[in-house]
Amino acid sequence: MHVPLLDLKAQYRTIKDRVLEVTQQVFESQYFILGPQVEALEKKIASYCQTEHAVGVSSGTDALVLSLMAAGIGPGDRVISTPYTFFATTGAITRVGATPVFVDIDPDTYNLSADKLSDAVATMSEDELNTVKAIIPVHLYGQCADMAPILDVAAIHGWVVIEDAAQAIGAEYKGRRAGSMGDYGCFSFFPSKNLGAFGDGGIVTAGDPHVNERLKILRVHGAKPKYVHKVVGGNFRLDALQAAIVAVKLDYLDDWTAARQHNAARYREMFTSAGLTDRVHPPLEKENRHIYNQFVIRVDDGRDDLRTYLGEQGIGTEVYYPVPMHLQECFAGLGGQAGDYPVSEQAANQTLALPIYPELTESQQACVVEKIDAFLNR
Ligand SMILES: *Cc1c(COP(=O)(O)O)cnc(C)c1O
Repeated sequence: MHVPLLDLKAQYRTIKDRVLEVTQQVFESQYFILGPQVEALEKKIASYCQTEHAVGVSSGTDALVLSLMAAGIGPGDRVISTPYTFFATTGAITRVGATPVFVDIDPDTYNLSADKLSDAVATMSEDELNTVKAIIPVHLYGQCADMAPILDVAAIHGWVVIEDAAQAIGAEYKGRRAGSMGDYGCFSFFPSKNLGAFGDGGIVTAGDPHVNERLKILRVHGAKPKYVHKVVGGNFRLDALQAAIVAVKLDYLDDWTAARQHNAARYREMFTSAGLTDRVHPPLEKENRHIYNQFVIRVDDGRDDLRTYLGEQGIGTEVYYPVPMHLQECFAGLGGQAGDYPVSEQAANQTLALPIYPELTESQQACVVEKIDAFLNR
């Protein structure tokens, strides 16, 4: 049985008619950049994420870069974040000229550890603390970081909070939606995200009207009015076509999330009844609501051999992420060494994402668990 990591064609079959209808409308309008489709999506997303404002942008990466620019972060500033994330989080910090400061993760959630954050703050000098301007917690795999202590520390030191919620649209922390807790919430519509476009796209959520205004100006090269520039921004615009498609898909998102949660619960039952939970550790659900962009297991040893074996059996898996940011060659100048962030390094060596997409069937899941069992007991 073939079980892909993600099956976007299965999803497309269920929404095809509505998608074709709205794309046709955009084609007829010949209005392609920003405009009414983007504004409609911004309203829908702001409401869905329980924020006042949302600004459609060209990608999740650009959502991060734009937020950092809007927050006025640049050379000489330092930004705290996690070394265990998709490259864009750290890349965005360095692209605006700021310096990333890493804090290791919580081994249960793979998110920035609030305890290690307070340890890091306690060891920083007054000068060092003064150069920190922002913190970017990442809600990895669809589960929110432990935001209460992070928000507290940020408030004490006057840091801007930018949530990297690229994997977490609709995720909640103590009843609050991802993207509604910090000053900025950055989302991606990359096709493999829970709410994916048919190309690149993203959005930034914000509660403050001034922040919203800055984001909108910087999105169009810093122009306000047109051709008058008080600041230098960029082209961070979202296409009407992508906005129209994402708006259609948003109507299905809660059903898809429920299906992902259902699949996650079923994996847990299957791993338990197969007696595998001493060697295969399913993800811990510490913060509700977890939206399961990924279902990531931890395997004590043999992760790479397991992955190869599953690939040979027709089962798609992925390692998110094999190299933590402090060990990336392009960040060698930051002086990171192996051993600096041991929890991130261990996660990079032991984690494996399994298929969890909404259309995944019970028999496909049974096949995944059976093959893992076969590998571990071979
Ligand atoms: C996908 C992702 C991004 C970047 O989004 P793009 O739309 O691909 O640019 C940023 N951060 C995290 C954690 C992501 O998963």
